[in-house]
Order: sequence, then structure tokens, then C-alpha cells
Amino acid sequence: MSGTLITNARLFVGVDETVIADGAVLIEGDRIVWSGPTADAPDDPDVDGDVERVDVAGRFVMPGMTESHVHLSYSNAHPSQLDKQPVPIAMLDAVDNAAELLRMGFTSAISFGSAQGIDVHLRDAIDSGRVAGPRLLASDRDIGSTGSNADNKEPASEGRKRIADGPWAVRAAVREVAKSGADVVKIFLDGEELSAHAAPGVISYTDEEVEAACTEAHARGLRVACHARSAEAVKQAVRFGVDFIGHANFLDDEAVEMLAAARDRIIVGPGIAWEIQLLNRGHEIGLSRAAMVARGYQREVDETVSAVKRLREVRVPLTIGGDYGLSITPHGTNATDLQYFVELFEMGHAEALLCATRDGGKGFDPAGMVGTLEAETFADLVVVDGDPTGDVTVLQDPDRIVGVMKAGAWHHRHL
Ligand SMILES: [Zn+2]
Repeated sequence: MSGTLITNARLFVGVDETVIADGAVLIEGDRIVWSGPTADAPDDPDVDGDVERVDVAGRFVMPGMTESHVHLSYSNAHPSQLDKQPVPIAMLDAVDNAAELLRMGFTSAISFGSAQGIDVHLRDAIDSGRVAGPRLLASDRDIGSTGSNADNKEPASEGRKRIADGPWAVRAAVREVAKSGADVVKIFLDGEELSAHAAPGVISYTDEEVEAACTEAHARGLRVACHARSAEAVKQAVRFGVDFIGHANFLDDEAVEMLAAARDRIIVGPGIAWEIQLLNRGHEIGLSRAAMVARGYQREVDETVSAVKRLREVRVPLTIGGDYGLSITPHGTNATDLQYFVELFEMGHAEALLCATRDGGKGFDPAGMVGTLEAETFADLVVVDGDPTGDVTVLQDPDRIVGVMKAGAWHHRHL
């Protein structure tokens, strides 16, 4: 089996904020077999076959990042046009989007909804090595109730969504998603300011329906991701065992306490790029800043800042990413989220980096095979020309991402 010995690295293992000034990583096959200070490195790497030595000349080496709320099937379009591409074009776009995400240092991604059921086929093509992309937890079409934010008045079970009402219909929808081969069920628990008929405070499913979705998904080995902006929706999600909560913008004391109690099994991703870019760039798609403020998006950003502050105080893991793949949030700019975590949520740069690596990785694989550079985990890593623990914005520049390795193989290498 072939191996790689990376030397002369500023090494961020990703278990805490420590940076090892002179570090090394030894990789055999698709796994890391050793990482740490060069002074402690094994003299003679115990790897069968060839070991290539790669001197990274003091560059920063960190775990691959996890995009925790991805939509690879969206085609950088207007929010109302996300599933309007012909399927063959959308598939080709998704292949490009997956390669771009990996190129930018994201070696894992958790899908929060897939137009046309594209994810499953994309995941299989990635896993077989046919196309480049991150490890992908695939989802299928969103599941939502009649009149929910998922229900945009078009025929049910098309494009981006399946409309299902009542516990048995919800179970049937989850079974369809399971049959498709997906890993994740995405459900809408409440609404969206932009929706004409389903605002964030409007709960779209009863407890019985949420319980049906979660028990059916878990019985089939799938995990559940939800759209939940309000405290009530977040509480429903926690109560019935949703695994990934998207947004969680408006929290009350009880919601914070419930999330704190569930912090070992639940992942919260604010997915704040959507609100911020609606406010900043909405005018490009006919949605003026004034109109978006009037809809409540500035208030939502403000509430999210306070929600995130409270969740950090009770140590609920927060993950980066969310709703990239629209014209105002194009694919490949996903690392902008780390900048939001620093500037808006007032995190340290290294803390934001841990959200992108360790915490996202734990969400992707609770068994701990991704997200850090610890021994025996998958060799997914990024080499950066710069120091993200001092300035996370370097991760937005493709020229500074000089190496991307997934499963021990270089996807990109400009060293
Ligand atoms: Zn989303």
C-alpha cells in the first residue's frame, strides 16, 4: 500500500485550537496513521510499499472541512428557479458543483435537500471515483405539508419537494426517500419570511407528523435534517429526534435548554449566508434591501446573533455552511461562512475553524472518521498558503488552497 509523509507543516489537528509549529502527518492508504510534532515522528515510517515525502515548506495543514447544509443540485439560480433546470443540465451542474466544493477544501457535505433526486446518483458517482466531490450524505426531495414553505403550489412530488399530510402520508414519503437510496430525510417544520403563505412562526407539521417522520427515517437507518427557524419548531425537532437542525434563528429559554441537553446527538447550523446575501445582494434578483428588511430578514440576522451566543454558552456544536448554490450565494463561496462566524458571531478564528472541521465532521460521521487529523481517521486534509487561525478569509481564495487530499489521494496539489 502506498503512503504519504507530509512534513514541515504548521499543523492544526482539529481536536482543539492548538497549532503545532513544526508538524508531520503520515498517511497510509486512505487513513492517517500518525500526526503530531515532527520531533516525535516515527523515524522510519512503518508503511509497506512507497512513502512519498511531501515538504509543505511551513504551510498550514488542517482537516478537510464539512459543509453541513449543502444543495449540490441547485444551479446558482434565483430562489424560485432552483428546480427549473432540465434534469440532464442540473445533473451536469451538480457534478461541477461537487468538484468545486472539494477544490475549496470541503471533503464532506451533508445534504439538506436535492432537486430531482440528483444527490443519490451524484454520491454514488463520487464514491465510485467516476466524478470528483466531497463525501456526501445524500438527501432527496424535501418533505413538507400542504401550505408549508415547501409547497410552492406546483404539483406535489416534483422538482424539489414531496407534499405529505398526516402521519401515514409522511411515513410513505419517508419510505419513498429511503427507497431512492438517500441517507438523509429533509423536512420543513416551519416557514420562511419570503413565503407568501408560511412565515417562520407558522408550524407546518403536528407533533404526530414529526414523530412519524423521525421514527420512520431512523428505523430505516436514515438521518433527519430539518428547516426550523422558530423556537417552537426547534423544540419539535429536538423532542422527536431530528439529527440536523438548519437555522434555529429565534430561540427561547426552553429551546436553548433542550438543545443543550441534546448537544451530544444534535447538530445546529445557522446557515446565515441566505439572510445576509438577501439583504446585501437581493437587489440583483429583484428583492430590494428595504423589502427584505420589511419582510424581517434583518431582524432574523439580529436574532440569530443572540441565538448563537446563547448556544455557544451552553456548548451546542455549531456547523458552517448552508444555502450556497443560489445566484446570490454561488457554489464555491461556502467558506464565507467562517467569516460570518468571526465577524457576526464574534468567534475567534480558530473556534470558527473547529466548527468547520471537528464539529461538522462529528455531524457527518458520529463515529469520528472525519473532521480531525487524528490517527486512524480518513486522510482528508487541506494545505493552505496562509494561517486560517489568524484570518479565516484565506479559505475563500482558491489560490491559497494549495492542496486538497481526500481518502489519502490528492484531488488538488499545487505545492
Ligand atoms: Zn437549505
